[in-house]
Amino acid sequence: MHDLETIVIGAGAVGLAIARAQALTGREVMVLEQHGLIGSETSARN
Ligand SMILES: Cc1cc2nc3c(=O)[nH]c(=O)nc-3n(C[C@H](O)[C@H](O)[C@H](O)COP(=O)(O)OP(=O)(O)OC[C@H]3O[C@@H](n4cnc5c(N)ncnc54)[C@H](O)[C@@H]3O)c2cc1C
Repeated sequence: MHDLETIVIGAGAVGLAIARAQALTGREVMVLEQHGLIGSETSARN
């Protein structure tokens, strides 16, 4: 089993920004999104 340091749930603007910030510190990050596309809920209205 593979260990992950950070999991972000939700690939909206906020989740993606958090995931990017974490990745830039060198952490391995996984983003889980319920839809097939990122930014397809509230962030799609922005
Ligand atoms: C009409 C409208 C216009 C706007 N205009 C602007 C603007 O001009 N400028 C501005 O700065 N802001 C604007 N906003 C606000 C901005 O769009 C939101 O504040 C921002 O996009 C919210 O981002 P978020 O990542 O928090 O949420 P979301 O974009 O909703 O992202 C949350 C994600 O989490 C996923 N998710 C939720 N639960 C689960 C789960 N259990 N498992 C997996 N995935 C899950 C969802 O599918 C979604 O993709 C607007 C909002 C609206 C509604």
